Amino acid sequence: MATKKTTNNPTDIVDWIDGGSEVSLTTILLGILETILELPWLDTHAGGVFLADAESGHLSLAAQRGFSPQLLTSCARVPYGHCLCGRVAQSEEMLHVCCVDERHDIRYSGMPEHGHYVVPIKSQEQLLGVIVLYVKHGHTFDGHEAEVLENFANLMALQIHTAQFRQDKRLADLILANSAHSLIITNHDKQIQWVNHAFEKVTGYSREEVIGKTPAILRSGRHGGDFYRAMWRDIEEHGLWEGEIWNRRKNGEIYPEWLNIVALKDRYGRILRYAAMFIDLTPVKRAEEKAHRLAYYDTVTGLPNAVLLHERLQALLEDSRQTGANLLLFTLDLDHFKEINASLGRRVGDAILREVARRITGLEKETFAARMGADEFVIVCPCEENDVQKLSTRAGAVASRLHQRLEEFHEFEGQELSLRGTIGVAWGNGRDMDCETLLRCSTIALNHCKRHSRGGYQVHTAEIEQQAEYRHSLDAAIGKAIERDELSLVYQPQVDRNGKVLGAEVLLRWQHAEHGNVPPDVFIAIAEERGAIIEIGQWVLENTLRQMNEWRQACQGEPHCLQRLAINVSPHQLVSENTVQRFTEACERYGFEPEAIELEVTETGLMQNSSQIIDHLHDFAERGFKIAIDDFGTGYSSLSRLRHFPVAILKIDRSFVMNMARDASDAALVKSIIGMAHTLGFQTIAEGVEDAEQFAMLMDYGCDIFQGYFFSRPLSAEDFLAYVVATVEQSSQSGLPPQLAAIDA
Ligand code: C2E
Ligand code: CA
Ligand code: CA
Repeated sequence: MATKKTTNNPTDIVDWIDGGSEVSLTTILLGILETILELPWLDTHAGGVFLADAESGHLSLAAQRGFSPQLLTSCARVPYGHCLCGRVAQSEEMLHVCCVDERHDIRYSGMPEHGHYVVPIKSQEQLLGVIVLYVKHGHTFDGHEAEVLENFANLMALQIHTAQFRQDKRLADLILANSAHSLIITNHDKQIQWVNHAFEKVTGYSREEVIGKTPAILRSGRHGGDFYRAMWRDIEEHGLWEGEIWNRRKNGEIYPEWLNIVALKDRYGRILRYAAMFIDLTPVKRAEEKAHRLAYYDTVTGLPNAVLLHERLQALLEDSRQTGANLLLFTLDLDHFKEINASLGRRVGDAILREVARRITGLEKETFAARMGADEFVIVCPCEENDVQKLSTRAGAVASRLHQRLEEFHEFEGQELSLRGTIGVAWGNGRDMDCETLLRCSTIALNHCKRHSRGGYQVHTAEIEQQAEYRHSLDAAIGKAIERDELSLVYQPQVDRNGKVLGAEVLLRWQHAEHGNVPPDVFIAIAEERGAIIEIGQWVLENTLRQMNEWRQACQGEPHCLQRLAINVSPHQLVSENTVQRFTEACERYGFEPEAIELEVTETGLMQNSSQIIDHLHDFAERGFKIAIDDFGTGYSSLSRLRHFPVAILKIDRSFVMNMARDASDAALVKSIIGMAHTLGFQTIAEGVEDAEQFAMLMDYGCDIFQGYFFSRPLSAEDFLAYVVATVEQSSQSGLPPQLAAIDA
């Protein structure tokens, strides 16, 4: 066969079939064509071979000899049905013509006269191409010639078919070799014959290392003989198996894979080969593990989170149903964590949380800790005891160990930090307690402890539960107190050194429909928590101004006319953006100069040190409001620091006043506060003055203003006015108000 090379005008389809094969299809077809053209008895000088593309309905010229340049152009691609070759492609029947007749669609000027044999190339009823041969004008049809040409066409068909098959196989090989799935082909005896790149990558074995061995080299040892026997039984019986399996890489690492094994059989059902395809599940498992960690563990501390705590707690309670043992549940809340976070930054905050996590884990055998969120942790501790006394002792012991561990100094980036926390405790077992209730009880105990003895611990009791319920019902009602007209104001007189009533501290009262008179200490905190304090605070100011207006109109120019009223202001109001504006507007509305209003801010409120509070205090002072520091002495603030705040008055906390007569150190403290306040230019008020002795001492120390039961309890508006009038009258008669007369005597 001739091997003269090259085709003219190679087309897509030829390219595709030809690509990469050892001897190209076009070379082979050209060889056969040349053999035909050299047949001495067939008077032919030119011819071509077309390949068929049924999908596009075109013939493409693959090989030719003797085509004129015009023919090369016009016959490069011939549609089915067009010209002689197209007609043969359509009819799939051989065609003979002896001259250029009307079926010649392709013609050009100067085209010599000629005849044709046009022969279809077919295989199994499928058209693969067409051979066209040029014969002399007038050449007649010869049956013998036609038969020989059909044989040549069959030979070409075989070649085209083989090329196509080779191409298909090459494509399949390419796909398998480069598949992302690992592949193994074994012979009937399970000896490896072929593996792909993905296999080499996943297992670490090269192709050369595994050829001839069996896949048993990958065994991890995690599955027993039964597992493999069942697997091979399935393959033998059903022809395939798929499932998850642990295998071992060359480096010894064990990994999970998803494996598919298929038995390849011949037409008699005999197994010739096995093909195994698998994917490495390691990344999938890693992603699963990561998702699991995210769902069940806290990312900062690595402790179990609330979800996992619930699951474990539920399981432990279920166990304790059988055993009757108890679970102690401690809820720990870090004290002042928010402030630490705000002042030292989140990074330090996170480091502290991690340190806390470290300290509270492994507290005792079988205990486990979880982070519930923010600065709240839960520690669960199984306990064999059943007796309440013993449980309580145990709870106390664990709580103090927790406190001890927390309080050990911790150094972080050169800063020494000491941590404290408040702990709520509850216990129970699965027979009478569920997970939610146990957690809730412990939280109630914690909240109680935070209010009453921060830094300590509290066991949940029925009484605490009741108090919590009480608070809860107040919680819902506080927001409606104004609209239900349940709030009122009382006025406690403030008296100067001459016994003159300068004004009063305005104190809020809440008459709850069901619970009666609720102490302000209780409901103010609730109003703050619920965010209702802003509205309530505004209500207090407006009603104070309205009352003062009434009094002023009633006693214009009289000696008992009031100079000022002091109202209590919550830090929540001070933080709020528009309080200054709203207070100023209210004063304008009632025609009052802000100088008549004194704002009492607690020392602890001020110590929150928020820049907003300080800014707003300056705004208040600039507009003329007077600022008094309430409960002074309880917040450990230094006097000199107060110089930076726009403060006019210090109000000495009543706990010092109360103990003054009995406790020399309190007396000394009060004396020094008054002395220093004066040097710094502050006025002083003593609150909670209950008897003449206290009053005398305070007079002696130079205190400016006095307030307390010794003068008067908080009074209704009407009683207060009567009190002022009576005091003025008495001093005009005796020259001294009664209290001054008492210490004078
Ligand atoms: P506070 O500002 O320290 O108010 C003084 C408290 O001491 C008042 O209690 C008053 O009745 C009481 N008191 C006065 N003189 C004596 C005395 O001689 N002996 C004793 N033992 N107590 C005396 P009250 O009215 O129960 O108020 C408690 C707290 O509630 C107040 O403490 C204040 O912090 C808060 N509060 C009251 N009204 C308001 C308000 O309108 N707004 C805000 N934000 N807080 C308020
Ligand atoms: Ca006050
Ligand atoms: Ca006070």
